[in-house]
Amino acid sequence: MTAFQGNIQPIKLNTSVQQALGKHLLSCYPHEACGVLLGTAAAGGMRIDRYLPLRNVAPDPLHTFVPDPKEWIRALYLEPAPVGLFHSHPHTAPWPSSADIQGLPSLGPEFQIYLIGSPGPKSGEPMCLHGFQILRQQKPSGQLIYKLLQSPVMLC
Ligand SMILES: [Zn+2]
Repeated sequence: MTAFQGNIQPIKLNTSVQQALGKHLLSCYPHEACGVLLGTAAAGGMRIDRYLPLRNVAPDPLHTFVPDPKEWIRALYLEPAPVGLFHSHPHTAPWPSSADIQGLPSLGPEFQIYLIGSPGPKSGEPMCLHGFQILRQQKPSGQLIYKLLQSPVMLC
């Protein structure tokens, strides 16, 4: 497991995954899009090679996301399990909101990557994508603390 102050490792994205994220973001607009990322830990960083879009069933999908529970459970049982979560911020910059941080404990330890995308500044421009590593630190009390550490996203 990554140390709390571990070295920053890039998140490597397959170009087809990047396109799939951008497409899903736009097809859900103005609602938030969400889905899981499949990939493997590779030397020098995590490599994402598949994206599985999930339906957002949040009561307020303009500002929040809740993956469809059935699709979510099915995704968790994939072999190998998803390594990351993606969602979009259709109206704001792709930085984690306080609700995003509060949602981290609901993700199992297999989730190591957190991606947030926002539409490009002008229509037709590529989305703005920020990548983060999910860090978990256990306090002496046993309580787990969650933190997102920004990591460069590299296309490959
Ligand atoms: Zn968010």
